[in-house]
Amino acid sequence: MQITVGNKNINIRKWKGKDKKNFINALKNPDVQKSDIMNALVYDCIDENVILSDDEFRFVISRIRALSLGEEFTVEFYCEDCGNTFEQEFLLKDVIRYSYKKLDKIDISGANIKFGEPKNLETYINKVQQDSDYDFLLRIEEINGNNTFTLDELENIINDLDIDVLEEVMSIYDNAKFTVVDTHEVECACGKKQMYKFDDIPGFFPNSWFE
Ligand SMILES: [Zn+2]
Repeated sequence: MQITVGNKNINIRKWKGKDKKNFINALKNPDVQKSDIMNALVYDCIDENVILSDDEFRFVISRIRALSLGEEFTVEFYCEDCGNTFEQEFLLKDVIRYSYKKLDKIDISGANIKFGEPKNLETYINKVQQDSDYDFLLRIEEINGNNTFTLDELENIINDLDIDVLEEVMSIYDNAKFTVVDTHEVECACGKKQMYKFDDIPGFFPNSWFE
């Protein structure tokens, strides 16, 4: 099944028995690498060689879950206004959405930056795990005419930018980048509405997997 993830079209497949097995085995392994879990649940189920940001990963895993086990899930809410407890059913596609604006370059006074895709999955996962700023750094292909830097050199170039320039660059970048949108309005029978953040989806993985 083809899905669109920001600037990428990728083909996903359903989870298979072996994916569940790899995931559960990885969870039981005390020396588990984050990449083992990511491979079992997502990268093994994508045809293309892609590198996904944390938010892209979250969106794709929600699409694979929907394809494999269905869109529906149920959440129990408590209403502070009337004290009522109620259950409501949702579709994953309604609560895990994203915002994205294509950004090939930033061209402001003091910073001329061209962006591409990160090049190496292992480096990307390891670095972003240390510091999420690497998501930005590992997409830079050229800065102020220079396209032959090492990652260390690039960090020095960025750190050497004037703070007002850096702030503007980061503001443009953060505004455009792929971001999961996971807030959704929930309404109680009494009419009270609340915005709920679906950052933890109950039953995303069936309970039976962990028995
Ligand atoms: Zn209520």
